[in-house]
Amino acid sequence: MSAPAASPGHAPASPESIATSMPSLLPGAPHFHLRDGELFVEGLRLSDLARMHGTPLFVYSKAAMLDALAAYQRGFAGRRARICYAMKANSSLGVLQVFAQAGCGFDIVSGGELERVLAAGVDGARVIFSGVGKTRAEMRRALEVGIGCFNVESEAELEVLNEVAAAMGKTAPISIRVNPDVDPKTHPYISTGLKGNKFGIAHERTLATYQRAATLPSLKVKGIDCHIGSQITQAEPYLDAMDRMLDLVEAIEAAGIPLQHLDFGGGLGINYNGDTPPQADALWARLFERLDARGFGQREFMIEPGRSLVGNAGVCLTEVLYLKPGEQKNFCIIDAAMNDLPRPAMYEAFHAIVPLAPRAGSGSCYDVVGPVCESGDWIGRDRLLNLRCGDLLAVMSAGAYCMSMASNYNTRGRAAEVLVDGTRSTLIRERESAADQMRGERLVD
Ligand SMILES: *Cc1c(COP(=O)(O)O)cnc(C)c1O
Repeated sequence: MSAPAASPGHAPASPESIATSMPSLLPGAPHFHLRDGELFVEGLRLSDLARMHGTPLFVYSKAAMLDALAAYQRGFAGRRARICYAMKANSSLGVLQVFAQAGCGFDIVSGGELERVLAAGVDGARVIFSGVGKTRAEMRRALEVGIGCFNVESEAELEVLNEVAAAMGKTAPISIRVNPDVDPKTHPYISTGLKGNKFGIAHERTLATYQRAATLPSLKVKGIDCHIGSQITQAEPYLDAMDRMLDLVEAIEAAGIPLQHLDFGGGLGINYNGDTPPQADALWARLFERLDARGFGQREFMIEPGRSLVGNAGVCLTEVLYLKPGEQKNFCIIDAAMNDLPRPAMYEAFHAIVPLAPRAGSGSCYDVVGPVCESGDWIGRDRLLNLRCGDLLAVMSAGAYCMSMASNYNTRGRAAEVLVDGTRSTLIRERESAADQMRGERLVD
């Protein structure tokens, strides 16, 4: 088992100090690294942050976020492109602020996300609004703040948006989300770009829908978009979807409807468990080869990455409460649970689990579980860990779809969040109290 990559200038940890459960490459390396046998984020010791703020605690590396963004920026160098961070991956204000300051736009899927992005100081014009079920109130609010574009997902939505805009005396900028129906046999991991899926407009209905949109007086056609799924680890589905989309662009423009921008959605995967998705710049080098060959290389582009910008920039710190040996299984009960880290319960997803101060020796095999009263409340299964009660662990790759999916089940307050920048840490969200949770509730008199 090889040691995780150490940052330059830091002595790599000795192999004996790394628990055998340590993944061969720590997800989130090099910003999360071992130094003198302890796990650090950038210049700070994670156990110091856990002691200062308590657990469970989400910790994010600003440098890791900016590095992930830089890979996209390199991929788009010399092109006209807007990177719209898909904020449902992690919608905390402090995280939005990092991407806003770096010049990103934002992809939102609800009126609540719109209010968050405005609260982070972002101009509505830098925001695009996706989602299959936009309400009239959400449309009105988005028009009020001058939204950059609505990504329309059905023919019915087109009519409603036209009505709402007309009533306000405004014109709604739109793009239509097409469902490219990429072959599931060759790419079975794609989950949103298939027929029989609730997202987008069927490929064969697209031209007719654009023709309808062009006749609606309070809509202005701006572009076209697609989003084929999430945690995609290969380039081929993107290339296939792009070809299908460019065929449509040619047909739509031949019908006299010009498209200003092409939006290829998000979906690029990250390394959770030895996954090897292409880097964003390498992926886009391949996509631009295709775009250039087909004469589209100088268009205006948009993309909507979520997970790949934040997923490996965050960890969740948690304390081992109890070790519970069993006949068939040993359980390691931690103070984080499915309400904090919902991905294992929802998708049987894998998160690496790493002690903040790994001990020598192989330890025992544990199911790592939370305190919530559900058998589905597990965070990791069959993990070889050398542990004692009170040890601190990092659940890795927890920057995306963890805090933003967190709930109050079992009346557990949501965790606190810290953003680290070098040797500086900022508490960007306080731990939620019981009083916070009960605010707005009433006893009946
Ligand atoms: C969720 C979503 C994204 C982001 O997906 P990731 O897999 O997190 O990159 C982008 N666009 C749309 C429309 C989405 O729903």
